[in-house]
Amino acid sequence: MMIIMKANATPQEVDTVIASIKSAGLNVHLSQGVEATIIGAIGETHNIPLERFESLEGVDLVQRITQPYKLASRQFHPENSVFNIDGFTVGGDEVAVIAGPCSVESRNQIIETAIAVKEAGASALRGGVFKPRTSPYAFQGLGEEGLEYLAEAREKTGLPIVVEIMSQVQLDMMVKYVDVFQIGARNMQNFNLLRAIGETQTAVLLKRGLSATIEELLMSAEYILSGGNQRVMLCERGIRTFETSTRNTTDINAIPVLKHHTHLPVILDPSHSTGFANYVAAVARAGIAAGADGLIVEVHPDPACAVSDGKQSLKPEAFAAMVKQVGQIAQIMGRSLATVGTQVHR
Ligand code: PEP
Ligand code: MN
Repeated sequence: MMIIMKANATPQEVDTVIASIKSAGLNVHLSQGVEATIIGAIGETHNIPLERFESLEGVDLVQRITQPYKLASRQFHPENSVFNIDGFTVGGDEVAVIAGPCSVESRNQIIETAIAVKEAGASALRGGVFKPRTSPYAFQGLGEEGLEYLAEAREKTGLPIVVEIMSQVQLDMMVKYVDVFQIGARNMQNFNLLRAIGETQTAVLLKRGLSATIEELLMSAEYILSGGNQRVMLCERGIRTFETSTRNTTDINAIPVLKHHTHLPVILDPSHSTGFANYVAAVARAGIAAGADGLIVEVHPDPACAVSDGKQSLKPEAFAAMVKQVGQIAQIMGRSLATVGTQVHR
């Protein structure tokens, strides 16, 4: 349920509504936008009549939120969520470009890649240190050693780091290093992990599950938001279809559909959604034209020798060319590429 306050409602009137929501056994989520103050009353609301809040001073309108996800819905939060990620904003006019290798493989590899992607115009660095591999015999990641290399790469470039967390067991160790937790496709419905991340204040990149609907993705975001963590980005990374000529099928529709139903920023992963380096730039351009708030792209200095996802990884030069094209499309869309200030310290 959402309680929309009158434009001239006083802070005391807002406080009275909040107290009344709490006394009904519901949780309160305050959304103070430019246009309106909306107070979310979240919980088992179906037995509670709207009149209970309609009669309070300063209340303009009480409505039920019709979607199963509440805090993630545009109905509850009509304006785009725009938030800061260590140096740039996401969800507003800036288009974020997160880039880096699938896996952190060595100190040299991540530092070389970080410098290259920063010089090409990336706004954040990605790199996996715990890898969700189909085979238990495949490279599983460097763990904390990899995080130390990522932290060093951040120091040299100023790029915030985006790292996948696979289990809440890793949380205490990882939270010290990571600027954005990536929740991978395979963990999109790991509800214990979502709840644990919801209790942190670290920004999140939540990837769509391999066969998850858009509504299921939004329900997973709801787990994180309801824990109090508001900095959630959604990521379309391709879905399973009958098509076998690409690794997955980019659901380009998901971008406008998500932008319609939610205020959360939407990021496109053209690497996992195609699986081939030579398709990545085309799909990246399409994503920004479709209204995505950013991209996450795999880049490797030597893709042929990459320990994971080499086939879909761009060489730094190809990435730089892609960033230029994406920047032009962003301009047509009235946006610009996000930049982070720090110079590279080699
Ligand atoms: C990744 O980003 O390297 C990854 C494993 O992605 P996904 O969870 O989308 O498969
Ligand atoms: Mn990968």
